[in-house]
Amino acid sequence: MVRAIVGANWGDEGKGKITDMLAKESDIIIRFQGGSNAGHTIINNYGRFALHLLPSGVFYDHTTSIIGNGVALNIPYLINEINDLISKGVPKPRILVSDRAQILMPYHVQFDAYEEERLGGKSFGSTKSGIAPFYSDKYAKIGFQVSELFDADSLREKISRVCETKNVLLEHLYHKPLLDPEELFAELLKYKEMVEPYVCDVSAYLYEALKEGKNILLEGQLGSLKDPDHGIYPMVTSSSTLAAYGAIGAGIPPYEIKNITTVVKAYSSAVGQGAFVSELFGEEADELRRRGGDKGEFGATTGRPRRVGWFDAVASRYGCRIQGTTEAVLTVLDVLGYLDELTICTGYEIDGEIVKDFPVTCKLEKAKPVYKKMPGWKCDIRGIRNYNELPAECRAYIEEIEKEIGVPITMVSNGPGRDEIIMRK
Ligand code: GDP
Repeated sequence: MVRAIVGANWGDEGKGKITDMLAKESDIIIRFQGGSNAGHTIINNYGRFALHLLPSGVFYDHTTSIIGNGVALNIPYLINEINDLISKGVPKPRILVSDRAQILMPYHVQFDAYEEERLGGKSFGSTKSGIAPFYSDKYAKIGFQVSELFDADSLREKISRVCETKNVLLEHLYHKPLLDPEELFAELLKYKEMVEPYVCDVSAYLYEALKEGKNILLEGQLGSLKDPDHGIYPMVTSSSTLAAYGAIGAGIPPYEIKNITTVVKAYSSAVGQGAFVSELFGEEADELRRRGGDKGEFGATTGRPRRVGWFDAVASRYGCRIQGTTEAVLTVLDVLGYLDELTICTGYEIDGEIVKDFPVTCKLEKAKPVYKKMPGWKCDIRGIRNYNELPAECRAYIEEIEKEIGVPITMVSNGPGRDEIIMRK
C-alpha cells in the first residue's frame, strides 16, 4: 500500500514528525521532489534532528529510505546528513538513490545566490540551495543524472559543453569567476565515489516491493501552495509538491497511491515572499512566532523568521482538495492554548465580493481576510491522548476546521514528539 504524506499549506506543517511516526509501520519511505532547501524537524528518542534531504523514516532499522528520481540530489549534503545521523547514535540507515535522480551541481548553488543578488529587493526569497537553477537545467535538458557519473568520457564531453553556456552568463550577466571544466570533472568523480554504494534502479525495486505488498510512504516537501502549477506562482518552489507527483518522482503507477494524508497546520506560517491573506504583524505575530513549532517559527534550513498568521480555511480547503486528500492531520494545535480567542479566515474579500475558492495569484494579492472568532481553551493540551479529554473549545476549533476543509481529520498532533498524537478515527 502506498501512502503519501503531503502539506496543505506553505510547508512546515509538521510532515516530518508525521512521517517519522508512520514510518514505524512502513517498509520504505521515499522523497520524491525538492532538495535540501527545506527542512523537516524530527524529535524522537535519538534527539532533535533537522533533516533536509533524507526521508524522515531513516530512524528505524527496519526501513529503507529512498531518494527518488524527482529529487534535486546534492551528493555531499546527502553524505554529510548520513554521517551526522550515525555520529548521533542512529543505526546506519539503509539508503537507496535513484540512478535517474539528477545531481545538484556546485554551480547551481552559485547561480542561485548570484540571481538573488542581481534581483536585489525583487528577489523570490530563495534559500540559495540551488533548487531553481537545478530544475531549470533539468527541463532545459542540460542536467546530469546520477547514471551519467559512470561514463567518464561522455561526462567530460558534456561538462565542457555545459560550461560554455554557463560561462557566458557568469561573464556577461553576473560578472563572476568562470567555471573550469576540468575542476568540475574532478569534483564529479568525487561525487561518483560518494554515491556509488547507494545507486539503484528505484522504479524496478519499487515494482517488486509493490508485488510483495510492502508498505510505502511518499514524503512530500513544502505544501500545496508552493506547487509551481497550483500554488501562488511565481512565489513557489520549482518542483511539484503534490501527492500526484509522487508517482513520477518515485517511479510508481499513480493508481498505487491509495491514501493521501495531508498535513494541515492549526495556524498559518510561511517563508519567502508572496500574498499571505491571514498574516499577522507586530506584537501578535511576534508572540505566535515565539511560541510556534517546537522552538519558535524559524526556518529549519535558513533560520529565517517565518511569517505567521491565523488559520486560513480558504487556502487549507484548496490545499487539501488539490492534493486529493483522503485524510487530514491537524498539527501544532498545542501552540494555540495561550489565546483568549481563536480566529479563522473563512473567506476572502476581493473587489467587494466574498470568495470561498482560493484564487489565482493576481486576485489573491487583492484579497482581504473575512474572519470568524471562536473562544480559546486557555490551557496546555500537551500530554492528552484521548480526543474526548480535549477541552470543549478545542474540539469545537478542530471540528470547525474539519467542516471548513471538507475532509476527515483523523489525527491531531499536540506536541513535536513522536508520541504526541491523538488518533481520532
Ligand atoms: P515539515 O517541513 O512539514 O516537516 O515541518 P517542519 O519540521 O519544518 O516544521 C514543523 C515544526 O513544528 C517543527 O519544529 C516540529 O518539531 C514542530 N511540530 C510538529 N508537530 C508539532 C506539534 O504538534 N506541536 C508542536 N508544538 N510542534 C510541532
